[in-house]
Amino acid sequence: MTKPAKYKRVLLKLSGESLMGPDAFGINRDTIMQITAQVKEVVEMGVEVAIVIGGGNIFRGMAQSAKGMERATADYMGMMATVMNALALKEAFETQQIKARVQSALSMQQVAETYARPKAIQYLEEGKVVIFAAGTGNPFFTTDTAASLRGVEMNCDIMLKATNVDGVYTADPKTNPEARRYQQITFDEAISQNLKVMDATAFALCREQKLNIVVFGIFKPGALKKVIMGEDEGTLVHV
Ligand code: UDP
Repeated sequence: MTKPAKYKRVLLKLSGESLMGPDAFGINRDTIMQITAQVKEVVEMGVEVAIVIGGGNIFRGMAQSAKGMERATADYMGMMATVMNALALKEAFETQQIKARVQSALSMQQVAETYARPKAIQYLEEGKVVIFAAGTGNPFFTTDTAASLRGVEMNCDIMLKATNVDGVYTADPKTNPEARRYQQITFDEAISQNLKVMDATAFALCREQKLNIVVFGIFKPGALKKVIMGEDEGTLVHV
């Protein structure tokens, strides 16, 4: 008998940059297909997957506001960048015969459904991947915060934060050869050791609502499946 998955419904946070692959900007076709293939593997195991996608590969509000653009305007542009990524993800899933729906926190009825919690839950129950676009729909927030919000709203068992590094380390593994990965760590330990897991608002909401987080490397083949199976992969941040 095959081992059951540890998590039944997950919220996967993908940064916009994860779609760039080796490119300097935008969406790399091979990379997006590689990421969606990892998701396909767990969807086919019966795991319900909701995704919050970032937009940093196209536009970041903060960076533009630093150059003089009004922050709120820049942030709305950033949210629109996440919609582009969401459409690309949906298309990549469908190429691989996985049903996916995009729900946007900003109304754009010609391109995506507007966020509606009951409908999103229904899609998850039907085995469709739900891609949440436009973050929280509000400027001055991030897609990390959108991920914790949707994770809680969707009653997810876990938040999976995909990064370029395969977990939370004692120091920066790129510069410090002594750095070692935490297998698990509590929210309180992460705060006291000043370890940055997600932005502060996102982290606080997960902690308050007891939504545990796994930080893992999306570019390690089979990593997502290992996390879902509860194997030693990435770092579990728990209450
Ligand atoms: N953004 C926003 N409100 C949100 C989520 C995102 O204003 O709720 C804007 C913000 O300008 C941000 C951009 O969208 O810089 C892209 O999101 P983010 O930087 O979180 O993407 P990631 O770093 O995950 O690629």
